[in-house]
Amino acid sequence: VFAGIAQGPEDPILGVTVAFNKDSSPVKVNLGVGAYRTEEGKPLVLNVVRRAEAMLINNESRVKEYLPITGLAEFNKLSAKLIFGADSPAIQENRVATVQCLSGTGSLRVGGEFLARHYHERTIYIPNPTWGNHPKVFTLAGLTVRSYRYYDPATRGLDFQGLLEDLSSAPSGAIVLLHACAHNPTGVDPTVEQWEQIRQLMRSKALLPFFDSAYQGFASGSLDKDAQSVRMFVADGGELLMAQSYAKNMGLYGERVGALSIVCGSADVAGKVESQLKLVIRPMYSNPPLHGASIVATILKDSGMFDEWTMELKAMADRIISMRQQLFDALTSRGTPGDWSHIIKQIGMFTFTGLNSDQVAFMRQEFHIYMTSDGRISMAGLSSRTVPHLADAIDAAVTK
Ligand code: PMP
Repeated sequence: VFAGIAQGPEDPILGVTVAFNKDSSPVKVNLGVGAYRTEEGKPLVLNVVRRAEAMLINNESRVKEYLPITGLAEFNKLSAKLIFGADSPAIQENRVATVQCLSGTGSLRVGGEFLARHYHERTIYIPNPTWGNHPKVFTLAGLTVRSYRYYDPATRGLDFQGLLEDLSSAPSGAIVLLHACAHNPTGVDPTVEQWEQIRQLMRSKALLPFFDSAYQGFASGSLDKDAQSVRMFVADGGELLMAQSYAKNMGLYGERVGALSIVCGSADVAGKVESQLKLVIRPMYSNPPLHGASIVATILKDSGMFDEWTMELKAMADRIISMRQQLFDALTSRGTPGDWSHIIKQIGMFTFTGLNSDQVAFMRQEFHIYMTSDGRISMAGLSSRTVPHLADAIDAAVTK
């Protein structure tokens, strides 16, 4: 009965890894997926995560019962505190409904489904460009997806004027997806002053912010600094949605641990919103997994472990920043034509190189370097050993 089914296309990001795995070259490098690698090119499990897991395993009173539909209560509280800040008025006034979800993606999807059912305006504006899964997640959630200008290829920076114009002409009440920090794929974030202008414009038009925070602590190395944009919006007392992921900042990719928080106008509304989130989640996957959320809660609630985590997180962020400098220096020393200063200016895990899809294909063919066709490279996948190879490849691609 399924014989007539057409072959589906590979995912544009995860498909890069599929192609990489088939390549037998010893010099191959995978810069496609945003997963952290050590200087030795190995995946990293944080020491603090190993410690938390050992504690959980040795605790014989722990059982494997189902979590509630909303997840681990302690994890939800700690997650809201992490992103909004311990002194956040919204938390103190019990105006936040938080549910544990399947990492960032699941949080976005649950938030999208909730909005499609209960919010009066079904249009969501996403930046152009954005993470490739955003349009699919929100369309399948039942929202209408539109885009707003974000990136200017000419300056390799923010198209701030275009952004303001597009948000100004959005219908009142529309939902706007904002990357909290370390915009993926461009690595270009608004300044604090620009965030303030965006906030004022959005609040004046009653546009509803939906923040996606997949990189808290990964951009600057500081958890608080990377949450600044979000906290500006919470501080004005208005409503918003927040999708959090612990994939990158705790290295818990495969554990699928994240949270959706909805900041509401009152504690009463937050309670009702939570009751509706449960009705979205129950028929979707019933309740979330226990292990990853237990790891996160163990770390966040213990000040010693929390400090250890922030140090390991900073070390990851610093290594990425140093890769930016090394790649920039390598291209400069080769005299590679073009201005490469965006490599050190951009923020977070990715560099949006400006290489076109032909150049990307050439680098894959000739140098066994894998990246998404939009020219995005994961700096976290680079090491001092692979930077010269990448610089040679870029140099050859732009001078061929
Ligand atoms: N949002 C953005 C902007 C991302 O880059 C990612 C991960 N690549 C996610 C959400 C979701 O990731 P996950 O579901 O693994 O937490």
